[in-house]
Amino acid sequence: MAVRPYIVGNWKMHGTRAMLAEARAIDRAAERLIKVEVALAPPFTLIHATRNEASLIGVGAQDCHTAEGGAHTGDISAAMLKDAGAGFTIVGHSERRADHDEKDADVKAKAEAALAAGLNVIVCVGETEAERDAGKAEKVVAKQLAGSLPTGEGVAGSLTVAYEPVWAIGTGRTPTLDDIAAMHHSIRVMLNQLFGEAGADIRILYGGSVKPGNASEILAVEDVGGALVGGASLTAESFLAIVVAAAEKADT
Ligand code: PEP
Repeated sequence: MAVRPYIVGNWKMHGTRAMLAEARAIDRAAERLIKVEVALAPPFTLIHATRNEASLIGVGAQDCHTAEGGAHTGDISAAMLKDAGAGFTIVGHSERRADHDEKDADVKAKAEAALAAGLNVIVCVGETEAERDAGKAEKVVAKQLAGSLPTGEGVAGSLTVAYEPVWAIGTGRTPTLDDIAAMHHSIRVMLNQLFGEAGADIRILYGGSVKPGNASEILAVEDVGGALVGGASLTAESFLAIVVAAAEKADT
């Protein structure tokens, strides 16, 4: 791997202040796992506290609004996230695409708003089970990338792509390693086309039922630059086992 593996925990709508103990434990362990870039995306309500409790790991958000501010009750802008201590945000998670009907153009606008506010961005893409069964997975993901990725000078350095098959999220099911390799290769080809040389260093995370038991084999797949982890990021014990697997991979 040209760049450090990146392991990001997505806490989704889980966590009250009691969960800060997990963040502290993850942060303490990160000190001896420096070959891995570790980050957490807690709910909005915990971003500031997590940033205060954890000095080594990255802290980010799970979504942002496209506007800088205004009459958008219940929403939150990228500048507010930055002010709260976030260094990045996830955009385009399949749960947002499904629950809030977010389209590729919305995801792109969110990514651009985040970049404009000085945040790094993790853009999520991934096919449904029906799309995979129909042999359309790579085509669907290519279309999502084309529509969702921000473009322009200097963007690549702030960008991470997460490939998350919708049917693998929270289900305990994962694609075969060959399917992960094929998809990550096709994403890499597209990033190279879109961003030229800079595309080679954009990390492509795999997400979808990554656990301590399968992390090593998934992280060993060519072009897998890390993992976006949901359920297994909710305790320091299981999340750190995945971080350790990434550190072992970085050593090879
Ligand atoms: C996710 O929601 O980003 C995710 C990958 O979830 P899980 O690890 O629980 O499948």
